[in-house]
Amino acid sequence: MGLTGYIVFISPTNYHKLTRCNQCNHDFAYKEDCKPDVRETTTKNGTTTRYTTRTYKCRFCGNLKKEHETLKMDPINYADKV
Ligand SMILES: [Zn+2]
Repeated sequence: MGLTGYIVFISPTNYHKLTRCNQCNHDFAYKEDCKPDVRETTTKNGTTTRYTTRTYKCRFCGNLKKEHETLKMDPINYADKV
C-alpha cells in the first residue's frame, strides 16, 4: 500500500489564556518576543518528540512569559519493516 504518514498529537493550548498577561491582566497582551527554541528527539521505534519553548513579551508592562509545547509524532506504517 505504501501508506506513510504521521499521527500528530498536539497538546492543546488555550489561546485566550495564553495571551493574557500574568502581571497586568491585559487580554491579548503577549507578543512572541524571539525565535522559538526547538528541540527534537527521536526514539529507536521512530517516534519523534519536538519540544518548543516560546518566549512572549507583554506589550503593556514588558512581562516575559515562556510557553512550552510538546509535539509527538508517531510513524504509522513501519509494521512491515519489523
Ligand atoms: Zn503585562
